[in-house]
Order: sequence, then C-alpha cells, then structure tokens
Amino acid sequence: MTGQHRIVILGGGYAGLAAARRLARIAREAHIAVVDARANFVERVRLHQYAVGQSIQEWDLRELLEPKRIQFVRARANGIDTASKQVILDDARTLDYDSLIYALGSTNDADVPGVAEHAYSVATPEDSQWLRTAIPAGRIVVVGCGATGIELAAELAEYQPDSQVVLLGSEAPASWLSRRAQQHVERALERLGVEIRSEAKVIEVTPDGVRLADGSALAAAATVWTAGFGVPDLARRAGLAVDGHGRVLTDATLRSISHPDVYAAGDAAVVAGPGGRDLRMACATALPTGKYAADALVARLAGSQPRELRFRYYFQCISLGRRDGVVQFLHHDDAPARTVLTGRTAAWFKEQIVQGAGRAARP
Ligand SMILES: Cc1cc2nc3c(=O)[nH]c(=O)nc-3n(C[C@H](O)[C@H](O)[C@H](O)COP(=O)(O)OP(=O)(O)OC[C@H]3O[C@@H](n4cnc5c(N)ncnc54)[C@H](O)[C@@H]3O)c2cc1C
Repeated sequence: MTGQHRIVILGGGYAGLAAARRLARIAREAHIAVVDARANFVERVRLHQYAVGQSIQEWDLRELLEPKRIQFVRARANGIDTASKQVILDDARTLDYDSLIYALGSTNDADVPGVAEHAYSVATPEDSQWLRTAIPAGRIVVVGCGATGIELAAELAEYQPDSQVVLLGSEAPASWLSRRAQQHVERALERLGVEIRSEAKVIEVTPDGVRLADGSALAAAATVWTAGFGVPDLARRAGLAVDGHGRVLTDATLRSISHPDVYAAGDAAVVAGPGGRDLRMACATALPTGKYAADALVARLAGSQPRELRFRYYFQCISLGRRDGVVQFLHHDDAPARTVLTGRTAAWFKEQIVQGAGRAARP
C-alpha cells in the first residue's frame, strides 16, 4: 500500500472497534479514523444489567484508539456524500475517506403505535439510562420473548424484587432453542417470579400499559419494548443499496454491492451466513465481521482478491439473572445442537464470553 489511504470507520461499537483493532495491525501506513457519537465504548451486551441499576464498565474511546495511531472523532455522522467521498458530521465538519467501513449498529425500533412515546428500551446506553432512573414499583411489562427480553425480565426480577415482571410475546420464550434449553429458560423465569404470557400480540402501548390483539389490555407501571431492532437510516439516505430495514447489502467480502469503496459489518449490514440465512444481529457476528471487513479491504488495497467470509456459529448464551443462564451449543448454521449448559456453569460461561468480547473489541 502506498501513501496515506484514508479509512474512516463509522461506529465505535463491537464491529467498528474490531475493524479498527485489525487495521492498526495490518494497515500501518493508512490513516484510520473512528467516528462515534459517544465518548465511551459501552458493552452493549450488558445494557440489561445497567438498566436495572448494576454498574458496568466503560472505556474512553480516545484513550483506546489514539495510542494505536487511530484518530477518534467524537461526532454524530449525519450524512455520507458518496460522490465526493465525505462523511458529514453533526458539527458541520466533513471527513474525507478513500475507504469507509459502515458499522453503525442498531437501535430500538417498532412500528407499533405508542412504542416511541410510552415504552422504555434497552437498545442503547441512553435508553437503558432512562429505564434505570425510572424503574417503578409494580408491574413491568417486558415485550418480546427473544434473548434481550428474557435477559431483561430475569435481571429485573432478580435485581428489583419490588417489581412484578411480565414477559409477553407472540411466541414462547427462547422458542428457537432446543426443547431442553427452552424448558430451563421457562423454569428459571418462573423461579424468579416472572409471569410469562406467550401468544400475546401487542397492538398498542399506552401510558398505562399495553393493548393486545385479542381485545384485552394489561395495565403496567412501565412497558419495555425489546421486540425488534432497527438500524440508522444513514446508508439509505446516502443512496447505498440497503434492505427493507436500511441495512447495507454486502457481497461475500462485506463490500457494499452498490459502492465498492464501502464495506459494512455488524448489525447494520446484511451478511450472507451459513445455511442460506443472513447472519443474525449479535455481538458474536459483529466482532468477526468487523475484523473480516478490515482484512478484505486491506487485501484489495494490496491488489489481491480477498477470500470470501466463512462464518460459523458455535453457541448462544442467555443470562437468567446473575446466577443462572443457558448456553445452547449450535450447529454451524445456527440450528440448536444437543448440548446445553445451564445454571451457574452457564452464568459463568456467559460472563467469560462477555469479558472476552469486550477484550476482543478494545484495540
Ligand atoms: C441488552 C442487550 C443484550 C445483548 N446481549 C447479547 C449477547 O449476549 N450476545 C450477543 O451476541 N449479542 C447481544 N446483543 C446484541 C449486540 O449488542 C449487538 O448485536 C452488537 O452490539 C452489534 O455490534 P455493532 O458494532 O454492529 O453495533 P453497536 O454495538 O450498536 O455499535 C454501534 C456504534 O455506532 C455508534 N453510532 C450509531 N449511529 C451513529 C451516528 N450516526 N454517528 C456516530 N456514531 C453512531 C453508536 O454510538 C455505537 O457506538 C445484545 C444487545 C442488547 C441491547
């Protein structure tokens, strides 16, 4: 590689930092900059812990990046001008790039009436801070029986015993896992006093609770929405090829299918995975895709064709409070395998994985 090739990474989460960490090693002659609206790297996978009042560690992004000769730009990216190859920042500055890695992650999202106005979320540190400062005594309805909803419901029940937690969703909790893992999740939630309401579809969130598709209503002191994440609309607005949610469509080397100087990784990218399915939004996919995007970009700068991304799943961990959890081992295409860890062993295993993910992201 010759001269100062300018690589801008949008987003200093798991995917963006994994890319930066890799580039610091393999693209020493390039000028690398990471843009993030936040000053700190927050372990997003712990936001359900933070929301219920636990302390979580944060790392100053400038202190992480600058010793590795990576510029940190604290600003919100408001636009991308792909013609002039510039990122437009919220303070009216612009940032020139030769290559861009788009890793803006995901946020809370729902098209159900009342969610934006009346529901809390744990999708971002700011959302979790809101919930943390406002947890009421009384009934808290957690909408969404996916991993985030389960983890939050368990954490609330364990850490906020004055609250009466209802976990509500259109499917049973952890329905995608093996029967054994599902049963453990259900038993653990019941032991913690969480009331589970499956096959319940929320059609509106109101100031006093939720209204359901069967015509009934459930009163709540607070409602937390965990049923689905959206992504920033920057890529769509910039004219990049995106899917219906606004995630960047990529080829097998994580390059944008419409803009060859743009790569995408993490939650904000559509990445083809094993078994013909797109990779799911997860820290477990954000880290390797961020690292891979850096490798692919540098291979092309060096004039070679990068090998295609080969991603395999190994396990999925779900915490059930601080002393219990479930680890579902997976076939490489994400289908549940027979092996399942539960209880304290699973809680310990997950904690090691979360710590390891934080270490893997930090340059
Ligand atoms: C409560 C909770 C628990 C989770 N638990 C797990 C788990 O156990 N295992 C797992 O695999 N996954 C888990 N996840 C999912 C995981 O956190 C995400 O999939 C992962 O963080 C995605 O990484 P990312 O780098 O793509 O995005 P993010 O980590 O969201 O990082 C995106 C970054 O972009 C920045 N940004 C966004 N927009 C802008 C802008 N316009 N300008 C500048 N900066 C911007 C943000 O500040 C952020 O730092 C959990 C998620 C939540 C919310």
